[in-house]
Amino acid sequence: MPNRIQSKPAIAPVFFVSRETPPFPLLANLTTLMTTIDPSKLIILDRDGVINIDSDNYIKSTEEWIPITGSIEAIADLYKNGFTICVATNQSGLGRKLFKQGALDAMHDKLINLVEKHGGKIHSIRYCPHTPEGQCQCRKPAAGMFWDIAEAFGLNDLKGAHTVGDSLRDLQAGSAANSSAVLVRTGKGEKTLASGKALPAGTLIFKDLREFADSMIRSPEHS
Ligand SMILES: [Mg+2]
Ligand SMILES: [Zn+2]
Repeated sequence: MPNRIQSKPAIAPVFFVSRETPPFPLLANLTTLMTTIDPSKLIILDRDGVINIDSDNYIKSTEEWIPITGSIEAIADLYKNGFTICVATNQSGLGRKLFKQGALDAMHDKLINLVEKHGGKIHSIRYCPHTPEGQCQCRKPAAGMFWDIAEAFGLNDLKGAHTVGDSLRDLQAGSAANSSAVLVRTGKGEKTLASGKALPAGTLIFKDLREFADSMIRSPEHS
């Protein structure tokens, strides 16, 4: 029998953020499928270097997962202003066996809990657990996680949505699914700018997630 698994594109795992246990799993799936959204109210965030302080040695535990000043409040404020926030993050540390699934889940619980403490909500967290050698469809700059997000909201692509990242590959992945690119100077952001590599056309640049959030909330087209 041919090995079908190998020919299938790798799918990024999704950490669905829901505190309620749905009465019927099928109903929950249908609800997810039918969820639709104004794409201009959709924001896809990279994690390391955008929400939390990055490290070249990978972020491997909740102790190492430390929010960038103002980022949690920024996410909460975006939510309170009607934005839907998804996270799409490369986590090859999982594939490299630098940390376990439980540690990643705990880091994401920490993020979710902090945001909820500030009155916000994260819709979902997608992560690519693969190493570059895996040549999967989800590791940024590949756009698999972004197409998954579009599909989850019944959208053909992410035109009108914003992708926020500190690395060029974040912006390339988001742009491949037609979202607008936003570079923050936190994390690897300054390095990305200094590299001189071309950013996607029309890339907006902000000091940090807080400044981006303020701009989105103030923007007349979003009021
Ligand atoms: Mg990053
Ligand atoms: Zn992957």
